[in-house]
Amino acid sequence: MQEPAHPISEHNIPERFCSQTYLDVIDAAPFGQPCQINRAAMQAMHISAKHHYPNEACGLLLGKMTGQGWHIDEAREVSNLNTERSADRFILDPEAYQAVDRELRGTGREIIGIFHSHPDCPAKPSPTDLSNAWEGFAYIIVSTYEGHTVDTQCWALNVEGNQFQPVTVQDLHL
Ligand SMILES: [Zn+2]
Repeated sequence: MQEPAHPISEHNIPERFCSQTYLDVIDAAPFGQPCQINRAAMQAMHISAKHHYPNEACGLLLGKMTGQGWHIDEAREVSNLNTERSADRFILDPEAYQAVDRELRGTGREIIGIFHSHPDCPAKPSPTDLSNAWEGFAYIIVSTYEGHTVDTQCWALNVEGNQFQPVTVQDLHL
């Protein structure tokens, strides 16, 4: 059964997402390389986002980075350590990060990005997301409205490292 549509309209976008501070986070020019995501990884992000609604879910994106962009073959949920503002902030568990990093060593796969959800907010990065972003990482944001996944977008830092550029998502469906 299809989930009911919860279109993002100007009526349910929080005001701050229309403020200049938020608009300044985004460089409209698309990033040069795409982000490929296999079905399992896409589903894992959506399940995680729904499960934690109305709080933010977060996790690591695993796979390979090549000259053709990011190839994500796994999305692994990690605890959001921010319990005080879990609805709009996430702090990824650093120990979980290190454990996964160790596990992948020598396998040819690595941590190549981070996903998190935006409950009742668009899949656009916030100023906080920008201040926490690392160069070379893919940042996937899953937007959930009323607990339903409505949008999935990918972002990466521009060359200057001062704005996010939109990254084309290629959903591999396999
Ligand atoms: Zn965010």
